[in-house]
Amino acid sequence: MDLSDAKNIVIVGGGQAAAQACASLRLFGYEGSITLVGEEAALPYQRPPLSKAYMKGEMAEERLYFKPENWYQDQNIDVILSMRATKIDRVKRIVEIEHGGELPYDAVIIATGSRPRALPVKGADLDGVFDLRDLSDVERIRPRMMAGQKLVIVGAGYIGLEAAAVARQMGLEVTVLEMADRVLARVTSPVMSAFFETEHRSQGVEIMTGARLASLKGEGAVAATVLADGTEIAADIVLVGIGILPNVELAEEAGIACSNGILVDQDARTNDPRVFAAGDCAKRPLVHYGRQGRLESVHNAIEQGKLAAAAIMGKKRPVEDCPWFWSDQYDLKLQIAGLSTDYDEIVVRGDPESRKFAAFYLRNGKLIAVDAVNSPPEFLASKKLIIAGASLAPATLRDTSLSMKEIAAAAA
Ligand SMILES: Cc1cc2nc3c(=O)[nH]c(=O)nc-3n(C[C@H](O)[C@H](O)[C@H](O)COP(=O)(O)OP(=O)(O)OC[C@H]3O[C@@H](n4cnc5c(N)ncnc54)[C@H](O)[C@@H]3O)c2cc1C
Repeated sequence: MDLSDAKNIVIVGGGQAAAQACASLRLFGYEGSITLVGEEAALPYQRPPLSKAYMKGEMAEERLYFKPENWYQDQNIDVILSMRATKIDRVKRIVEIEHGGELPYDAVIIATGSRPRALPVKGADLDGVFDLRDLSDVERIRPRMMAGQKLVIVGAGYIGLEAAAVARQMGLEVTVLEMADRVLARVTSPVMSAFFETEHRSQGVEIMTGARLASLKGEGAVAATVLADGTEIAADIVLVGIGILPNVELAEEAGIACSNGILVDQDARTNDPRVFAAGDCAKRPLVHYGRQGRLESVHNAIEQGKLAAAAIMGKKRPVEDCPWFWSDQYDLKLQIAGLSTDYDEIVVRGDPESRKFAAFYLRNGKLIAVDAVNSPPEFLASKKLIIAGASLAPATLRDTSLSMKEIAAAAA
């Protein structure tokens, strides 16, 4: 459906994908009305620093925002904050918002993101128990992050481990509880898990794997976490990082196809040609992997914001990059390219003990992903090699006398 004559575009959600969609629509020449409805009080901002520099107090709040307020005014974008969209009426082509407001649309982009999975145990509502998703979460946690305080982090995913690193550097006593038998079990290989576990332990973080949380204890405020085997760990603060759930309800209730994510095609379009979805909430074709999936990353939100805007404006589809992600812990920069699920061979280049190495993931000899620790050339070269579907010999990848440039050139 050609929507290039659209007069009203409504963007539901006020995060990374929404901000990108606004910018891309104007960049692609859209001159009609854009209304962004976001339920948070803040203008669209970047979340990654919330578990890194901003949490540590090393980044000013203004630097979190993608654009200052006057940019939205200059671009003639109506930004409605602290407001929830409650319904998409696809027959009347209206987005309903709280307090009875109605926003007519010719096209709508759903960029509602995701929300933290709730901790399903007794005591989860005690004072001192926090999620880490929004700016407002950090505003509540940070005043409590004082040296000597006991912080228990539930879940050893990237966000939990980043927060552990920050808290250790701020002098807190940190324990990480992980139900699986290794940290980062959902997202990376045993070799990477072992590296990060060793790193955190050497920094003084207590890591307990195979630890099943049974309840949280305390009189009004949390005082301890209790494991299924009865072990109690004292806690002044508990941070919960056990994954996220996509915010699909608005789409689902409007009859849009969803399956652990709002289903979209390569143009970020749902099964309704006027409705698009982008970012954490969308399940998209992963073009370099021949399957569908939901990605939780900045790169994905930006890419899909652009794809939706291009499709609405009838522009040529922007070329899809390979998925990428990063994580900062202490002085370690982990850069991830591609998706390592389904690898059948792993090749380590460099020595983990040097804190500068990369794990390459191969499937049938083809490079499908890399985890690069303090190794930008490995990351950058791999992005291109993954897209090219390059086959690489493990011995070549392991050979550190060859630069990544030489390896990439030989594979071309
Ligand atoms: C602490 C933290 C650290 C991270 N670190 C990294 C990192 O290092 N690298 C990386 O690539 N990614 C990182 N991510 C993930 C990345 O930030 C997300 O993938 C990205 O923000 C997704 O963008 P989005 O626009 O889809 O969703 P969001 O940024 O979550 O924005 C969605 C917005 O929509 C609003 N909303 C939801 N429902 C409604 C409604 N009905 N009406 C109105 N508004 C609504 C929400 O309140 C929210 O403001 C991190 C995330 C967190 C939380």
